[in-house]
Amino acid sequence: MRAVVWKGPGKVSVDEVQDPRVERATDVVVRITTAGICGSDLHMYEGRTAAQPGVVMGHENMGVIEEVGSAVQQLRKGDRVVLPFNVSCGTCFNCTRGYTSACLVANDDAAGAAYGYVGMGPYKGGQAELLRVPWGEANCIKLPGTPGDELEDDFLLLSDIFPTGYHAAQMANVQPGSTVAVFGAGPVGLLAAYSAMLRGAAEVYVVDAIPERLKKAEQIGAIAVDFRKGPPAEQIRNLRLQNPLVRGAMRRGEEKMAGVMCGIDAVGYQAKDFADPSQEDHTSVTEQLAEVVNPTGALGIIGVFLPQDPGGKGQAAKHGEYQLPWGKLWEKGVQLGMGQTPVKHYSLVLRDLIIAGRAKPSFIVSRHIPLADAPDAYQKFDRREPGYTKVLIRP
Ligand code: NAD
Ligand code: ZN
Ligand code: ZN
Repeated sequence: MRAVVWKGPGKVSVDEVQDPRVERATDVVVRITTAGICGSDLHMYEGRTAAQPGVVMGHENMGVIEEVGSAVQQLRKGDRVVLPFNVSCGTCFNCTRGYTSACLVANDDAAGAAYGYVGMGPYKGGQAELLRVPWGEANCIKLPGTPGDELEDDFLLLSDIFPTGYHAAQMANVQPGSTVAVFGAGPVGLLAAYSAMLRGAAEVYVVDAIPERLKKAEQIGAIAVDFRKGPPAEQIRNLRLQNPLVRGAMRRGEEKMAGVMCGIDAVGYQAKDFADPSQEDHTSVTEQLAEVVNPTGALGIIGVFLPQDPGGKGQAAKHGEYQLPWGKLWEKGVQLGMGQTPVKHYSLVLRDLIIAGRAKPSFIVSRHIPLADAPDAYQKFDRREPGYTKVLIRP
C-alpha cells in the first residue's frame, strides 16, 4: 500500500510500504477513508523530535473495517469507524478510569501511545491506505452513515482536535456565561473557541496573527485579537473595559481585574514572539495567560510542550524546561490543567452532538487532497499558508 513516510526534517514522501495485517486476535485493520494532517505532526516534520526516517505518519484517522481478529466480537468488516488518536488497551488502571491518554499497556511508560508518533509506541500512522488498530474494540468508535457522506469531515475531527478543543475548554472550567481567552487560532484553538461556545461561554477572545485564521474565529462569533497590535492581555482588558455593555454589567470591583476567567493555550512551545513573529518565544503565551486570567480563574494548556532534550537533538532541547510564571499563578490562585487529551472520553458525546446537528466542527477544514499531494500540503501547512489551516487526506 502507499503511505506518507517521514524522511528527515521538512521532508515526507509517499512510499510503497508493507500492507498491515491482523497480528493479534484483538486487532482490526481499517481501510482509511480520511486522515488529517495536524499541528502535532509538525513537531516531527520539522525535526524537533528524536524520530528516525521511516515513520509512517498520521494519528487522525477514520475509515471502514477491512479485517477483524478472531477475538473481536463487537466489530465486523464494513463497519464505519473513527479512531481516537490515543492507542489504548481499554482495561488497565488508567484506561478503566477514562484516561486512555495514559494507558499503561500500549506504551512502556504512562506517557501515552499514538498512531504514527515517535516515542508513543510502535504503532504505524494512518496517512495511508490501511491501518492496523490494536485492541480494536477499545480503539474504534462506530459511526452511522456512509463513508464519504456529508458528515465525514465532522466525524474525522473526533479522532483528535474536536475532543482536544473541548478538553481544553473543560480544563479551563468554561461554564455558561464564562469569559474566555484562547491563544492560537490554528485548528485546535479554533475548536477550543467553538467548544467554549458549545459550553455556553459569553465572551470568547481568540489571539493569533494570521488573518485567515482570525477571520475564521470571527465567523463563529469570537472576538479576534491580533498579537502584532500589542500585548494580547492588555488588548483583551481594553476591549472589555471599552465595551459599554460589558463595562456596564461589571459587578463591584470587577474592573480591577477585567481579564477573563478562563484561558486556553492552543499554541505550545512553538509560540512566536509577539513583537517579532519571525522569532520563537517559548513562554510568551504562558506569560500572557498568567497576565490575562483573573484571580481564581483556570487555564487549560493543550498546546504541546516537548520534554527537555527529546532524544538529544532538536531545537526544544536547547531551551530545556520552560519557565512558568508560578509566582503570579500562585498569587492569583489559578487552577491549571494540561497534557494529552483522553480523546475517547469525549468522542461519543461529541459524535452525538454532530449527529443531532448541534455541532459542525468541519468549519475549520480548508481542503481535501489525495495521498500523493501530502508532501506539498505538509510544506504549506508548516508555513501556515492561506488555504492550509486544516488539510484532510482522502487516500
Ligand atoms: P498550528 O501550529 O496550526 O496552530 C498554532 C497557532 O498558534 C498558529 O496559527 C500560530 O500562528 C499561532 N501562534 C503562534 N505563536 C503565537 C502566540 N505567541 N500567540 C498566539 N498565537 C500564536 O497547530 P494546531 O494544529 O492548531 O495545534 C496547536 C497545538 O496543539 C500544537 O502544539 C499541537 O501539537 C497541540 N495539540 C495537542 C493535543 C493534546 O492532546 N494536548 C492534541 C492535538 C494538538
Ligand atoms: Zn492531531
Ligand atoms: Zn490501558
